[in-house]
Amino acid sequence: MKKLLSLLFSVLLLISPLSGCKAKAPLQKEELYALDTLITLSVYSHNSEALKLAKAEIKRLEKLLSVTDKDSDVYKINLNCGTFVSVSDECFTLIKTAKEVSKAASGYFDITVYPALKLWGFTTSEYQVPDENELLAVKEKIGYYNIELNESNKTVKIPQGSSIDLGAIAKGYIADKTAEMLINNGVTSALLNFGGNIKLIGSKPEGEDFKIGIKAPFTDSYFATLNVRDLTVSTSGDYERYFEKEGVRYHHILNPFTASPAESDIKSATVIGKKGELCDALSTAAFVLKSENITELTESYPDYSFVLLTDERVYVSENIADDLTLADDFRSFEITII
Ligand code: ADP
Ligand code: MG
Repeated sequence: MKKLLSLLFSVLLLISPLSGCKAKAPLQKEELYALDTLITLSVYSHNSEALKLAKAEIKRLEKLLSVTDKDSDVYKINLNCGTFVSVSDECFTLIKTAKEVSKAASGYFDITVYPALKLWGFTTSEYQVPDENELLAVKEKIGYYNIELNESNKTVKIPQGSSIDLGAIAKGYIADKTAEMLINNGVTSALLNFGGNIKLIGSKPEGEDFKIGIKAPFTDSYFATLNVRDLTVSTSGDYERYFEKEGVRYHHILNPFTASPAESDIKSATVIGKKGELCDALSTAAFVLKSENITELTESYPDYSFVLLTDERVYVSENIADDLTLADDFRSFEITII
């Protein structure tokens, strides 16, 4: 009997490393600069090949969707404005999604603001405040409804003189595709940070939710933390990119109707949900729309959750309120459920 037990014990010892108790996957962290932003991939995996493939996927999509890369679909569309241009399915679908968000946001989200971004110098960092005539002329070029999409042959046409840029939507999409690549290579836990767009794969390796801090504007601290898993958390705000002239701050999120930096009571807009491209686009749209018009978006996208910070209030979607904790300095802020 004793012999039998000891035999059983050694057999159990032999099979245990192969079965259930697999060693915890180590954290692999990688930083790269792409899409005009710092990207940090924090991946729990034994497979270093997965991370390499993920980086290659980022580069592939940057090449396809960048506004400056001469080989990209977006560049081709802009270069050949006035004629139909054949593009990839991915680019076509993103532009289609962007148009849908524009409609839901009453035109305050608009990927044709690119000529205005150029005029203000946000594309080169050679900033200037345009005069009235320049603004009048550039406004003529803005209008998402003028983008023509031909579903049957995946071609896109924009009017002569106008141009598009997917800066407010592409990062969210690329984060999703990067996650897909990692998941297909066995990754079950990761946090991918694409400059304000955070995509989560699963939960933390121990099984807890990820705790995501939402930045308090113009500080290094957070105004709130969110417990979340599997989803995207995308934040837009006027503190990300801006310049100052004669005491006035001008930021990079534009109101398409004025072709100028959007004046908003919202200091930071966060959207949480399944599809990265929608979270990305909706967070930009929410910022421009202001809190008074936010129901236009929340009603059109009921599966997406919103967290909006103003000077004295935090607006939170009901379906995420229990997962949000305000930081000590923001406890006095009133919470409004939307
Ligand atoms: P970031 O890219 O800084 O993380 P956003 O996702 O909010 O922030 O996107 C801002 C970018 O979107 C700008 O740099 C510009 O390229 C573009 N953009 C600015 N205003 C608008 C707008 N009203 N609608 C769509 N895109 C915009
Ligand atoms: Mg965005």
